[in-house]
Amino acid sequence: AKRVYTFGDGQADGASHLREILGGKGANLAEMANLGLPVPPGFTITTEVCTFFYENGKRYPHELEAEVETSLAYVGKLTGRAFGDAENPLLLSVRSGARASMPGMMDTVLNLGLNDVTVEALAKGAADERFAYDSYRRFIQMYSNVVLGIPHHYFEDILEYYKESRGLILDTELDAADWRKMIVSFKAKVDEETGNSFPQDPKEQLWGAIGAVFGSWMNPRAITYRRLHSIPSSWGTAVNVQAMVFGNMGETSATGVAFTRNPATGVKELFGEFLLNAQGEDVVAGLRTPQSITESARIAACSTKPSLEITLPAVFQEFVRATELLEKHYRDMQDIEFTVERGKLWLLQTRAGKRTSKAALRIAVDMTREGLISQDEAIVRIDPSALEQLLHPTIDPDAVRKVVATGLPASPGAASGAIVFDSDEAEQLKNAGHKVILVRIETSPEDIHGMHAAEGILTTRGGMTSHAAVVARGMGKPCVSGAGAILVDYAGGSMTAAGVVFRKGDIVTIDGTSGQVIQGRVTMLQPEFSGEFATLMAWADAARRMGVRANAETPQDARTARRFGAEGIGLCRTEHMFFEGHRIVAVREMILADDERGRRAALAKLLPIQRADFLEIFEIMAGLPVTIRLLDPPLHEFLPQTEAEIAEVADSMGIAAEKLRRRAADLREINPMLGFRGSRLAVAFPEIAEMQARAIFEAAVEVKRATGAIVQLEIMAPLIIAKAEFDFVRARIDSTARAVASETGENIPYSVGTMIETPRASLRAGEIAVTAEFFSIGTNDMTQTCLALSRDDAGSFLGGYVAKGIFPADPFVTLDQEGVGEFIEIASRRGRQTRPDIKIGICGEHGGDPQSIAFCEKLCLSYVSCSPFRVPIARLAAAQAAL
Ligand code: ADP
Ligand code: MG
Ligand code: MG
Repeated sequence: AKRVYTFGDGQADGASHLREILGGKGANLAEMANLGLPVPPGFTITTEVCTFFYENGKRYPHELEAEVETSLAYVGKLTGRAFGDAENPLLLSVRSGARASMPGMMDTVLNLGLNDVTVEALAKGAADERFAYDSYRRFIQMYSNVVLGIPHHYFEDILEYYKESRGLILDTELDAADWRKMIVSFKAKVDEETGNSFPQDPKEQLWGAIGAVFGSWMNPRAITYRRLHSIPSSWGTAVNVQAMVFGNMGETSATGVAFTRNPATGVKELFGEFLLNAQGEDVVAGLRTPQSITESARIAACSTKPSLEITLPAVFQEFVRATELLEKHYRDMQDIEFTVERGKLWLLQTRAGKRTSKAALRIAVDMTREGLISQDEAIVRIDPSALEQLLHPTIDPDAVRKVVATGLPASPGAASGAIVFDSDEAEQLKNAGHKVILVRIETSPEDIHGMHAAEGILTTRGGMTSHAAVVARGMGKPCVSGAGAILVDYAGGSMTAAGVVFRKGDIVTIDGTSGQVIQGRVTMLQPEFSGEFATLMAWADAARRMGVRANAETPQDARTARRFGAEGIGLCRTEHMFFEGHRIVAVREMILADDERGRRAALAKLLPIQRADFLEIFEIMAGLPVTIRLLDPPLHEFLPQTEAEIAEVADSMGIAAEKLRRRAADLREINPMLGFRGSRLAVAFPEIAEMQARAIFEAAVEVKRATGAIVQLEIMAPLIIAKAEFDFVRARIDSTARAVASETGENIPYSVGTMIETPRASLRAGEIAVTAEFFSIGTNDMTQTCLALSRDDAGSFLGGYVAKGIFPADPFVTLDQEGVGEFIEIASRRGRQTRPDIKIGICGEHGGDPQSIAFCEKLCLSYVSCSPFRVPIARLAAAQAAL
C-alpha cells in the first residue's frame, strides 16, 4: 500500500474520506488542495506507518525512505526549491495529525531544514535578515525540545537573561545580530545537554522530527487526552511534512486562527484572531494578545488594534471567501489556521471547530434552518453528554457581586471554588472532595489533568483561542482567559486582583459567559430550557422510540424530572424515604422488632408518613406512570450504629438497650450485598410490603379524589431470584389492593412487576413473566451480581482494571454489554416469549449513559430511567440510537 500521499497546487493523492490513514489534518489538507484553495505543498505519511512503527520496535517499513525522497522532490518542484540546498533551500514543517482532532496534544516542528548554511540563503532572500536568524533560533528551540527532549524554558532563560542584560523587553526589539548571538548560545546549550552538536544535516533533522511525531503519540499528555476522549491508542497518528510559509516576514505577513461561526455562542459570524509579523504557535500560546479578524469584532471588543479587515483588506476578502467555501463544503462550522506571507494567503488547516454546547445547539438548529443539514443530522451532531454544560447554573444577573477583574469570556457557565495554582494540587483537592478553580498565568498541555479536576479555569494571559480557552470549551467547563489585571505569584501561592490578595484556598467565582472574576460565592440561576435547546429536544422527542423516565423519590427530584422532560418515574426507591428525618427511628423499630406485633406497631407509625410521600409525588406526576419499588434495604444501613442511636430506638420501643443491642448484632451480616435484602425482606416480613402497598393505594385514591388524575401505578418487587418468590410478594400487593378498593369504593388500576437484577432472574425470566407484568432491569445490581463485584468495594481495584486495559471502562458507568448485556438480552427475550407486550425498562446509572442507551435501543426496550439531571441527555441519546 501507498505510505506517502502528496498534496499541493490544486491537487492531491488523498481526500477527506481518507481520514483513517491520513489523519484529520492530512485528509483536510488534501481536500483543501483539491478544492483549489492555497495550501503550501507537502505530503502525509500514513497512520499505518505509525502502527508499523510501534509493532516493529520503532522501525519504519523499508520502502518508506524512497517514497519520502520522491515526495520531497515533488514538493521541491512545486516550490522551486530543494531540501538542503545552499542557495535556495526548501524549509519544512513537520506536523502530527491523528484521526480524531487532538488540539495541542502532539508536537510540531517548524522551519526544519535550517542550518548554518541554509540560514544564510534565507537571510539573503528576505527583505530583513533578522527574520532568518529569528527563524533559525526558533527551529533550534523547537527541534531541541520536541526531538532532543531539552526543556523549552532552558532556551527562554538564555533569551530572558540576554534581554535583561541589555535592557530589552520585547522579542521584537532584538535585531539580526542579537538573534545570531542567541543561535550561538542555543547551540552551545544543545552541546552541553546532549553531548552532541545540533544536527546540521537536513535529512537527519527530517527523520528525527518524523520519529518524534510518531513518538509523541505515546507521550503522557497524548495518552491522557485519549483516555479522556475515548480515542483508541491503536489509531496512531499521521505525519504531515509541508513546505513552510512565513508569517513573520514583516508587516504584510501574519498568522491566525478563525472559526466560521462564534464557537462560544454559535452566532453566524466570522470569529478569529491573528498576529502581524508572527509565526505559528504565537497565537495559540497566548504570548502576545492578538488582534480581531473582522472590524465588527474589534469594535465589540473595544480594541484599538486594527483588524485584519482594515490592515490587509485584499487578504481579508480572499480569506472570507475561503471560509465560506469550506463551511459549505464540510457543512459544519470550521476552525481554520492560516498564514499570510508578504500579502499572500495560505491555509494551513481546517477542521470541524470545537464549540460549547450552547454554540453546538445554535449551529445545528441554524444550519438545519439554512438548509445545510437535515433535522436528523442536527440531532446526531449534538453530543448528548455535552448537554450537561447547559444544565449548569449561571450567575444571577441581579446578584450583588464584587468583580475584581474581567478577562475574556472563553467558555460559558459559572463556577465557584477554592483557587489553586498548580494542576497536581487541583487534582488532589478534587479527589479530597473540594471544588477548585485552577488559576494559571497560561495553561499548557501539561495542565490537562488539573483542568479536568477543576470546576473552572482562570488564566491571566492568552486570547479566545489560547490553550486554556480551547480545552475548557472542549471539556464544557467555565473559563475566563487573559485576565491581565490579575497578578499571579506562583511561589507565594497567591494572586492579587483590584488590590485584594487571594491566597490559595480562597473562594472565587468565575463567569465564563461575561469574563468576570468575582470575590467569594455568588447566587446562581438555574438554566433556562427554551430557544434552540427546546427546538432540538422537540426534534429529538419526535425521533426517539424509547420512553425516558427519571429515578426520583423526593418531590424536588420529581419536579426536576418533569422540568427536564421525563415521561414518568421509572424508579421510586422507597428506602431513601425511610432515611428522611426522624422516621428512621420507626424504621429501626420495625426492623429490630422480634415479633410481628412489634413490627405492626412500628409500621402503623410509618403508614401515614409513606402515604404522604406518595401523595405528593403522585400529584406532581399528574397521571404519568410511577414505578415504585418496595423496600429494598441494605439492612446494615438501617441498623443503629452508635450507643446513642441504640438508646434512642430502645427507648421508643420500651425495651432494654441491652436487648436491642443483641438483636442488632444478630442482624449484622458478613456480606450484606448478598444478604438479607430485596424481596427477601418481604418474604420474611410480608407486613412491610402490605403497609407499603396500602400507603400507595390510599395515596392514589386520595389524589384521584382531589385532582381527578389517576396515576399509572406500577408496583415492583425488588431483587428476586425465583417466580415463586415474586408470586409470594405479588399476592400481598393484590390482597392489599382489594382491601383498599373495598374500603374506599375506588378501583385504582395498577400493574405489578419486578426488578431483574440477578443472573437467575434473567434465566428464569420466561416463567417469571407469567405473573410479572413488567420488568425493570436494575443494571447496577445486575452488574454487581453478574461480575461478583461489589460496587462499594470496587474503588480499590477497579481503577487498575481500567488503567491496565483489562476492562475497557468502569462497568458501573458504561454497561458491560458483552456480559451483563447478555443477561439483559436473555431476560427480555424470554420475558417476551411468555408475554409479548411486556414492558421492559432499565434503571440505574446506565439509564443516562449514551452508549448504554444505544444498547437498550438495540434490544428494543420500552424505556430508560435515569437521574433527573440526565433526562435531557437520555432523550437525545435515545433519539440518536433510533436514527
Ligand atoms: P496543532 O495540531 O497543534 O494545531 P499544527 O500542525 O497545526 O499543530 O501546527 C501548529 C502551528 O504551526 C500552526 O497553527 C501553524 O501556524 C504553524 N505551521 C504549521 N505548518 C506550517 C507551515 N507549513 N508553514 C507555516 N506555519 C506552519
Ligand atoms: Mg493546528
Ligand atoms: Mg437493586
